[in-house]
Amino acid sequence: MTTATATATATQTTEFERTECTRCCGTGRYSYCRTMNGIFGPETCFKCNGHKRSLTLRGQAAHSIFADSLSVPSTELHPGMVVRSHCNEPWAIVKEAREGREGDGSCMINTDGSRRYWFHVLTDKCSHGTTATTMWRVAHSKEQKRAKIDLAYRYQDCLTKAGKIAKKHTDEAIRIAAELSA
Ligand SMILES: [Zn+2]
Repeated sequence: MTTATATATATQTTEFERTECTRCCGTGRYSYCRTMNGIFGPETCFKCNGHKRSLTLRGQAAHSIFADSLSVPSTELHPGMVVRSHCNEPWAIVKEAREGREGDGSCMINTDGSRRYWFHVLTDKCSHGTTATTMWRVAHSKEQKRAKIDLAYRYQDCLTKAGKIAKKHTDEAIRIAAELSA
């Protein structure tokens, strides 16, 4: 299928699909098309954040699988990993990550009176009492991030306009998703 390959290369996706923002009609301001009398004033549109364009459903699905691939839950943290739990936090090196146990500072009291300890994550910056399912953003090198973005673009090419996997691209989409979460 040389022809198909050539076509795919020619139309290589280079961004998460966006369109003119539907909330602000591409003005970047919320009030423009929603209130004729400008009750809300010239506020920055929160859907596109003033960028005037917003992700399409297909773009959202591809961007979301990319964003998810940059994070892992507490249970997948290992000593030495560089992580942060919020984007405004400094990066920290994981020293220890384990289920909570007796002796840990804080705990929750179950309805039967027994104690439930927070999942324990210790970094070089601080100690976190958290949950097993809390997501942590893992530091990626520029190259690692680039590779994941390219995979997400290929994933986007497998999606329908509604952001669902197109039947004919199911195998490819599953393969890419697996590669992204590896
Ligand atoms: Zn907007």
